[in-house]
Amino acid sequence: MAVKPKVTNGSTTLGPAANEKDAEKLRFIEDMTMNTDAVQERVLAEILSRNAETEYLKRYKLDGATDRETFKAKLPVVTYEDLQPDIQRIANGDRSPILSSHPISEFLTSSGTSAGERKLMPTIREELDRRQLLYSLLTPVMNLYVPGLDKGKGLYFLFIKSESKTPSGLPARPVLTSYYKSEHFKSRPYDPFNVYTSPNEAILCTDSFQSMYAQMLCGLLQRLDVLRVGAVFASGLLRAIRFLQLNWEQLAADISSGTLTKQITDPAIREAVTQQLQPDPELARFITKECSKGDWACIITRIWPNTKYLDVIVTGAMAQYIPTLEYYSGGLPMACTMYASSECYFGLNLRPMCSPSEVSYTIMPMMGYFEFIPLDADGTMCNGAQTQLVDLAHVEVGKEYELVITTYSGLNRYRVGDILRVTGFHNCAPQFQFIRRKNVLLSIESDKTDEAELQKAVTKASELIKSYNATVVEYTSHASTKSIPGHYVIYWELLIKKDKTKNGKSGTIPTELLDKCCLEMEESLNTVYRQSRVADCSIGPLEIRVVRPGTFEELMDYAISRGASINQYKVPRCVNFPPILELLDSRVVSTHFSPGLPKWTPTRSN
Ligand code: AMP
Repeated sequence: MAVKPKVTNGSTTLGPAANEKDAEKLRFIEDMTMNTDAVQERVLAEILSRNAETEYLKRYKLDGATDRETFKAKLPVVTYEDLQPDIQRIANGDRSPILSSHPISEFLTSSGTSAGERKLMPTIREELDRRQLLYSLLTPVMNLYVPGLDKGKGLYFLFIKSESKTPSGLPARPVLTSYYKSEHFKSRPYDPFNVYTSPNEAILCTDSFQSMYAQMLCGLLQRLDVLRVGAVFASGLLRAIRFLQLNWEQLAADISSGTLTKQITDPAIREAVTQQLQPDPELARFITKECSKGDWACIITRIWPNTKYLDVIVTGAMAQYIPTLEYYSGGLPMACTMYASSECYFGLNLRPMCSPSEVSYTIMPMMGYFEFIPLDADGTMCNGAQTQLVDLAHVEVGKEYELVITTYSGLNRYRVGDILRVTGFHNCAPQFQFIRRKNVLLSIESDKTDEAELQKAVTKASELIKSYNATVVEYTSHASTKSIPGHYVIYWELLIKKDKTKNGKSGTIPTELLDKCCLEMEESLNTVYRQSRVADCSIGPLEIRVVRPGTFEELMDYAISRGASINQYKVPRCVNFPPILELLDSRVVSTHFSPGLPKWTPTRSN
């Protein structure tokens, strides 16, 4: 039986709501989290009954069953690769109900890749409502912790990416591009707690320079109104700071003269920004004073002094940016509000002002049906785990799990690839710490490079030096975020045989050839990496650091001195531990950067 939330005067176990509208949303959260298991049962039954006639459920002979037992007994746990043939048919124009009984409205292109291309996630129109519902819960929760957000604005750096069409003419684009372009976002009703400094026209421009320029300019013009500064991920906010470092002179000039630089050619942006822009030499002088010092510490609070917190995700791969953000913001709190993916939006952080190391997300049971593959302490699957998935309400505190979802759009028992640890419960809803993405070695922003992709890239690039009788005997990697944008650093130990090669080349490899190896590696990396390099400029040129012979043996000695077993030692393909990085860096004999941009086009190769 459903448990009713106890609510008196707009106060829930979450705290007293800021206003009646918030109270309703908080009651909703309480209702969902008190009845987690019942809601999950209802969601599964809804999904299975509406999709009963789909080819997929028929294939597994569900015969209209909507209960958990039959569902778990008959449907396999799958990965993207298992579904790809079905997804490809939909992309090619097959309109029959393959995965979902509702028409597929578009494809969401995940930042996770398969065979080098973004995964294509079919979605249905009503999912936008579900995403909107989750977004609508964020402000009422934030208002519990930060009063007065209706007295100012949010400076959010939000961007869309270019989109393509599937052979059947459906759009294929990232989930946020889909959301920002939707009427849900564009025609959102005025909410004093959610006013942005960025005009929609700036957010909706695919040219990342023009979009960023306009958003920064509007943020500067309204600097005293700004109460929070944010982006989706930490990497996006750091790009904005870098942009300010590179463009403050032009921005100040525009503000001083009250005219918009000719570099902004998008007519919609020009019109939206010009309305706000008037000559303000005093503001221009202020920006010049703050930015010309060459000291960027606390730049966020210097320019936007009323900022109460940063609204950015710094969990998972983004944790690497925390120290840099602390430096630029003078230690402002960082609120990680939401956990979501292209496949499904999962949940929210009910204590958004907690420290990044304590962030836990409460998966909201109405968003989809959630199951969990139990993992052993070493992160591997428990015996029989594939067959014994645990339901949302029954996960155990302290344990780690891999997330498996069933969605209204037609994914059934789909492995997302995220590893989560249960930290506690809010009512009956578990709260999860994001631990990591499975198989991801390197990530700067939304790119995810796994071990196999890195291996392929090294193999491809090392072909170029073969004619010098040289081979890459060992390698490892590191996502360097010391400078923004961050970039991949690949450490290479080379073996160069002294005897002359057939074509008479001796053993010294020209430096330009090693530079070319960097580009060759980039060419081989997946489309998200290349898009970030080419279109978004959010990843810098790949760097190869050649280390002197014997370095990787020293690395092994170091690991063994710290207790590694000599029999089981494997070269780590990615290193983050500072003493190891120091050791590697102290052995570098030459460094090389990619001399150009890899090839990338918005069109998919499959
Ligand atoms: P995409 O499908 O490209 O939207 O990427 C979704 C993935 O981003 C998720 O499956 C997670 O791996 C990661 N992600 C999303 N939200 C968070 C978060 N709050 N903290 C850490 N990682 C996240």
